[in-house]
Amino acid sequence: MEKDTVELAVEGMTCDHCAVTIQHALAAVAGVERADVSFPERRAHISTTKGATPEALVRAVETAGYRASVIEPLASHTTPSQRAPHVSSGRKPDVVVLGGGSAGFAASIRAAELGARVTLIEGGTLGGTCVNVGCVPSKTLIRAAEVQHRAASHAFDGVRTAAQTPDFPKVMAQKDALVNALRQEKYWDVLAAYSNITLREGHGLVSRDLAISVNGEVLTAGRLIVTTGAAPWAPPIAGLAEAGYLTSTEALALTKPPASMIVIGGSAVGLEIAQLYARLGTRVTVLEAMRTLVPAEDADVGADLAGYLRDEGIEVRAGASIKCVTRDGTGYTVDATTDGRAETFKSEQLLVATGRRANTRGFGLDDAGIELGPKGEIRVNEHLQTSRPEVYAAGDVIGDPMFVYVAAYGGHLAADNALNGNSRRYDLSALPRVTFTDPQVASVGLTEQEARNKGIDLATSKLPLSYVPRALAARETRGFIKLVADRRTNRLVGAHILATEAGEMIQEPTLAIKYGIGIDDLAAAFHPYLTLAEGIKLAAQTFTKDVKKLSCCAA
Ligand SMILES: Cc1cc2nc3c(=O)[nH]c(=O)nc-3n(C[C@H](O)[C@H](O)[C@H](O)COP(=O)(O)OP(=O)(O)OC[C@H]3O[C@@H](n4cnc5c(N)ncnc54)[C@H](O)[C@@H]3O)c2cc1C
Repeated sequence: MEKDTVELAVEGMTCDHCAVTIQHALAAVAGVERADVSFPERRAHISTTKGATPEALVRAVETAGYRASVIEPLASHTTPSQRAPHVSSGRKPDVVVLGGGSAGFAASIRAAELGARVTLIEGGTLGGTCVNVGCVPSKTLIRAAEVQHRAASHAFDGVRTAAQTPDFPKVMAQKDALVNALRQEKYWDVLAAYSNITLREGHGLVSRDLAISVNGEVLTAGRLIVTTGAAPWAPPIAGLAEAGYLTSTEALALTKPPASMIVIGGSAVGLEIAQLYARLGTRVTVLEAMRTLVPAEDADVGADLAGYLRDEGIEVRAGASIKCVTRDGTGYTVDATTDGRAETFKSEQLLVATGRRANTRGFGLDDAGIELGPKGEIRVNEHLQTSRPEVYAAGDVIGDPMFVYVAAYGGHLAADNALNGNSRRYDLSALPRVTFTDPQVASVGLTEQEARNKGIDLATSKLPLSYVPRALAARETRGFIKLVADRRTNRLVGAHILATEAGEMIQEPTLAIKYGIGIDDLAAAFHPYLTLAEGIKLAAQTFTKDVKKLSCCAA
């Protein structure tokens, strides 16, 4: 008698009793010899004789009140003739995810939840950029520098505290401890909880027929999801490559704060690190090529932010065109022209923070015929599908915007579409973004200029933070809230906030844009007194009222 085994991914179980119920349902199907159902693994393993089709087994599970899909085995072999991607209708194909950062984790977890067997390949440090060298180390160091700065500030005369010299090695050790703990908890431990995700540590190579090799092993899968991220990119400045420089990764791992640092690049990463070191005692100069800092933001933001950074002693040059970089025993020399004037800047350290480019070279994507865009990013359609239909891509590898929450969203969506037939559209409308300077920059939707370019009949309101009671009470009135609205619909199309905790305030405008909440509704909604969030209500009221006449008690 012909025997077979079928493996099912089962969804909907809440306890061991569910597993027993499903086991009985499967055992009752004609041709089933044995059924084992595991609640923790969400799987059913069935030995059958001829006659028990996978479809009949899935039906039995569904009749019992649960959902099931057939898991196909992931082939692991080395015979070239067998390397064609394996896809068959009605079954969940096996999935290989290339790159174990945020997008790769989101894709792997989603594919596993959908019942696929997943192989995740990571060639560097598990967790990728965010936890190891990006969001986590930068934000904890920024907070440490902020604490140092506030201790030295004199906002409250009555409670002035003496700032101490920062213990830099201790600050760095604390940062490393946090990174290690989060990598363990949020990546290694999470991975261990998914029995149908297998990690392969090594550099993955994609072949023309979409087989993926890692450490000499060749994997084939029905679907490949590429999540290989991005790496720091530097412009072709004369002498720069020869001189060498810090990227954000090295800048966040120095053993002592340099006496001086030039930062090339005045967007989020460059400014965050510039201010962090300035607050730890480094003399910092920022050189930005565009006319304002944070050039992707509303024009009002960059000018005011530059002023606040200068107030802290940071030298800021916008509109800088760098001619060349040289280095000798004493440090770096940067020759530049700013506003038509030739200037020379000198420093002990040089940080280049001019953006990141997709990791798409050197592991076979071009050979496999996967189309790339002008900056080397993988081209994808609205379903995150590449030019090879079995291959999807998500995260920094598909280019801007490069944020971890975008990577996670994209990874999840790519897995959904890879396994469920392009059922979801990639939608980045109402995407908030935050630059973690102090004051922070947070924004969502269109800038005033973008709204104008789109021909929107717009109205703007701009509320200085000095009109927000919370800011007054905290003696922290730097910044403003600017709202951009469509006059025709009376709805918000953009919000731009410069404030100490702007990142905590941007979610309300984000939801207003996403769900079409009108300006009048924002102005009428309860906002607790005294919170910075109340500033959003006041800014909404400022569309129709003179800001100077807004009483604390006016509803
Ligand atoms: C200094 C800094 C601060 C940041 N701060 C923030 C922030 O505050 N908020 C925010 O939202 N975003 C922030 N970001 C951006 C955020 O970190 C990234 O957008 C996000 O981590 C990208 O995730 P990803 O999965 O696409 O790529 P990554 O996390 O880079 O993962 C890609 C992985 O693929 C692996 N890989 C590459 N090629 C191969 C191969 N051939 N084989 C096997 N493995 C391979 C790499 O080793 C890497 O682990 C910051 C970035 C930096 C640099």
